[in-house]
Amino acid sequence: MADEQITTIGGCYVCKRTFTFTPASVMKVMIDPETGLPPGVTVWGAFREPTPEATARSVERPICPDCVARAERLGEFAQPPPPSFDTWRSGGP
Ligand SMILES: [Zn+2]
Repeated sequence: MADEQITTIGGCYVCKRTFTFTPASVMKVMIDPETGLPPGVTVWGAFREPTPEATARSVERPICPDCVARAERLGEFAQPPPPSFDTWRSGGP
């Protein structure tokens, strides 16, 4: 009973898709509504020290599981491929 999960409907910051999520467990990103980017990130993608104003006005935006999974896959590019990949690729005729 104490474990009940309150779900909310919101739009994914990345793909704009509307999805249902649990606020306590969803992946979120802080966004400065003035720039549409995380506080401290400029429109050119550079990072600088966020101003207190930018941090104060920033709101948390949810990210849907699809976009989280895609980001995780992109992150794997920096890591060596798992050994099972070679086995799968050499399994041809
Ligand atoms: Zn998304």
